Amino acid sequence: MIKTITIALSPSESFQEDKIRTGIAAECGVAVSRVTGYSVQKRSIDARSRQVKIIIQIKAFIDEQVIPEPAFDPELRDVSIAAHVVIVGAGPAGLFAALKLISLGVKPIVIERGKDVRSRRRDLAAMNKDGIVNPESNYCFGEGGAGTYSDGKLYTRSTKRGNVQRILQLFHHFGAAPDILYEAHPHIGTNKLPQIITAIREQIVACGGAVLFDTKLTDIVIDSDHITAIKTSDGGTIECKAMILATGHSARDVFRLLHDKGIAVESKPFALGVRIEHPQLLIDQSQYRCDIRDTYLPPASYSLVAQENGRGVFSFCMCPGGIIAPAATAPGEIVVNGWSPSKRNNPYANSGTVVSVDEKDFAQYKFTGPLAAMQYQQMVEQKAFEIGGGKLVAPAQRMADFAAGKVSSTLPDCSYLPGIHSAAISSVLPKEVNDALKKAVIDFGKKMKGYFTNEAVLVATESRTSSPVRIPRDKDTLQHTQIKGLFPCAEGAGYAGGIVSAAIDGERCAEAAAAAL
Ligand SMILES: Cc1cc2nc3c(=O)[nH]c(=O)nc-3n(C[C@H](O)[C@H](O)[C@H](O)COP(=O)(O)OP(=O)(O)OC[C@H]3O[C@@H](n4cnc5c(N)ncnc54)[C@H](O)[C@@H]3O)c2cc1C
Repeated sequence: MIKTITIALSPSESFQEDKIRTGIAAECGVAVSRVTGYSVQKRSIDARSRQVKIIIQIKAFIDEQVIPEPAFDPELRDVSIAAHVVIVGAGPAGLFAALKLISLGVKPIVIERGKDVRSRRRDLAAMNKDGIVNPESNYCFGEGGAGTYSDGKLYTRSTKRGNVQRILQLFHHFGAAPDILYEAHPHIGTNKLPQIITAIREQIVACGGAVLFDTKLTDIVIDSDHITAIKTSDGGTIECKAMILATGHSARDVFRLLHDKGIAVESKPFALGVRIEHPQLLIDQSQYRCDIRDTYLPPASYSLVAQENGRGVFSFCMCPGGIIAPAATAPGEIVVNGWSPSKRNNPYANSGTVVSVDEKDFAQYKFTGPLAAMQYQQMVEQKAFEIGGGKLVAPAQRMADFAAGKVSSTLPDCSYLPGIHSAAISSVLPKEVNDALKKAVIDFGKKMKGYFTNEAVLVATESRTSSPVRIPRDKDTLQHTQIKGLFPCAEGAGYAGGIVSAAIDGERCAEAAAAAL
């Protein structure tokens, strides 16, 4: 008999094979000796009561020979002499689009403005140590895009848009641990992602695709209403019948290029605010109702949402055991984001905590037209730089001080390496954002014990939550509504948010581009 069952075990039991077998036998009503094997299908944490439980969905084999899961086939082939599609941007969308094209027998030519993973590291060190931003190589630009030095959380709600499991299997195929295939909230970690991204690129090249670094898209050549070529920063021209534009939400020059050429782009509501950092111990105590976290439990996370002054306020990209990172892409602006290593073993917990903004807000600052949201976003990032402590030293305020409208006389230790500077967050954020955020942190404190505390610090500004621009495309062909052969893709075009949904959209655009060829 093969049965799919669910068992609940204590955190330590969930790591013991004999306890899992005993649990299976009890659930199936058979002796343990009759359990011939099992495979874990899903694993999640139930922390609703003081006795935290690990819920495991299992495929159990009773009196049966164990049938191994079929091996995953990434469907790779030689495409060196095949027709090509150009992909601009080597983020998750661009790389997974390239893999998909290969599986369809089409040669991907990927161009990337930034450097390879290894060379990129030096530019990240310069940001963290000296506050210097290289506009072509940073946390957002370079091989693997914003995904490479991201946190690597692979949870997505975009289950209807594509095959999430295939994306996870590809990540596993290229080196991610097998637990991402069954954890309810899979996580890779910043220390593991670079090798995986490198392995993906090496595979693309081994199949006959091309990946060109330090090569920036500077122009698009159009004949009547069809793309015929792109121009690049090295003075080159690459002819193409199809181009997947996967340049992410931070490529402001690309949005301007399209707008200046009369190619439609639209302003898009997004959300902005701050990163909030707590001691991890405090979050563990609150979420697991304990003094010290059970060593078999991962550092705790949270997800909070409120409606304040008619606006959505929500926590975003929560990084237990994480670090706040500088994510600016140009000098003169401060942008923060967060990541954590695979072990999530830093003593801090951070999350973006952001307020939704839309056209009415942009118009207050006289920002109108397709680039209005981007201009509003840039205004706040530049304000953070102005109010900060020089270089990338970010404005920061303790939480209770923020709510009381008082500049903090001291700041707690903080994981943000360029450093923090005591300032009123209200002088950085637009009033509408600040007011909603103030109410939200108080309300979140009512929902989650220990959250509202002066031990927590707000660091400004978290502004790159999603793209401030949408590039319109036909919902069936995925081509730009005006330009044939141009496939606006993933986060930068407004069709994805996060690694997995970007990868899924990359695959969809690859299928559409291959069909158009
Ligand atoms: C610190 C940090 C932590 C994050 N943590 C998570 C997380 O845990 N989970 C999650 O799901 N998401 C996370 N994200 C977000 C995630 O990384 C993005 O959603 C995802 O990378 C978007 O993929 P994309 O391919 O659409 O765009 P991007 O990853 O932004 O890639 C776009 C690429 O295009 C290139 N490009 C731009 N302009 C040009 C041009 N003119 N010519 C050539 N190339 C160009 C860029 O250099 C870049 O490499 C995090 C982001 C950051 C910065």
